[in-house]
Amino acid sequence: MRLVVQVKLLPTPEQAAALEGTVRAANAAADLVSRIAFRQRCFRAYDLRRHTYQQIKADFGLAAQAAQHVIKKVCDAYRTLHASLAAGRLGKPGSARRVKAAGKPISFRPLAAQPYDDRCLSWDHDRRTVSIWTVAGRMKDLAFTGSLEQLTLLAAHRRGESDLVCRDGMWFLHATVEVPDVPTAAPEGFLGVDLGIANIATTSDGVRHSGKALAAVRHRNRELRRRLQAKNTKSAKRLLKRRRRKEARFAANLNHVIAKQLVTEAERTGRGIALEDLQGIRERVRLRMPQRVRLHSWSFHQLGAFIGYKAARAGVAVIYVDPAHTSQQCSRCGQVDKHNRPDQETFACTSCGFAEHADVNAARNIAARGEAGWAVSHAA
Ligand SMILES: [Zn+2]
Repeated sequence: MRLVVQVKLLPTPEQAAALEGTVRAANAAADLVSRIAFRQRCFRAYDLRRHTYQQIKADFGLAAQAAQHVIKKVCDAYRTLHASLAAGRLGKPGSARRVKAAGKPISFRPLAAQPYDDRCLSWDHDRRTVSIWTVAGRMKDLAFTGSLEQLTLLAAHRRGESDLVCRDGMWFLHATVEVPDVPTAAPEGFLGVDLGIANIATTSDGVRHSGKALAAVRHRNRELRRRLQAKNTKSAKRLLKRRRRKEARFAANLNHVIAKQLVTEAERTGRGIALEDLQGIRERVRLRMPQRVRLHSWSFHQLGAFIGYKAARAGVAVIYVDPAHTSQQCSRCGQVDKHNRPDQETFACTSCGFAEHADVNAARNIAARGEAGWAVSHAA
């Protein structure tokens, strides 16, 4: 399994200036390569290298490897664009959006990410430093930090390229790690997980992961947005952008923590994890809260993805079940009735009298469907 690990760099002011100079030079070079590629309709790395390699080395002070990576970055960007055009993702031929995307050279943000390979970036995991090529020469002793989990993964399994990324004035390396596949253990039952808004995740064991803290952050940011949007100044826009990213990081971190707890619990008890099919979750939420669907469906998707890869790493089976009526069905007698759900929090069966927190009842249905689904698919 291939994962991306992020570490934060801790550069001194001089080191930060050298990193910025390097990324700016690389992206200015990428813009030039892109213009040449576009003008000459030449998008293959090999051909483009012949046309541009010597020039960008000389004009932008790039080392051989850095120049190669710039050319490759441009080729990759055009390959992605051409694939999108071919798949019709940018509209029909002649549409304004398509003409805008295909009618001019691709341009690169001044601080767009720059790839590095092992020849221009080396890691010292014990000292937590990297040595990295810059336009100001090789920079040694650049300190980095990250979560213990990420640093452990990095030290054991890093392979291939890393991207140097600048975000909100902070510097990061995104490194690729190759984790060996763990065989999936045959599950003894399933931990059902209901994903929601008030409770981000509720398990069939009755554990609820509240979304209150996240809702509070989102509420504060919405208020701030209302006030700042009235101003509409450049600094207000910058602040809003930073706040949005901070909110996204908060949500991602919360999703990581929840996913880890769910997978650890399933692993400890020898069970698999049953989740509602993500497409289904989107449908269900859209019916309930049309205005918030985009934000939340994105967050659900992320949590589902985190659970998926953490489970795969732990050898925990994951099964996706049909989400229809999981919140209206009684997990004891199986009766489906919308009157079983008198309010958002309560489930009370009109047939057998069973009562439970609504999300816990839904999670139990999901667990049962997971078990049934697994039995069917593994009957042979
Ligand atoms: Zn019942």
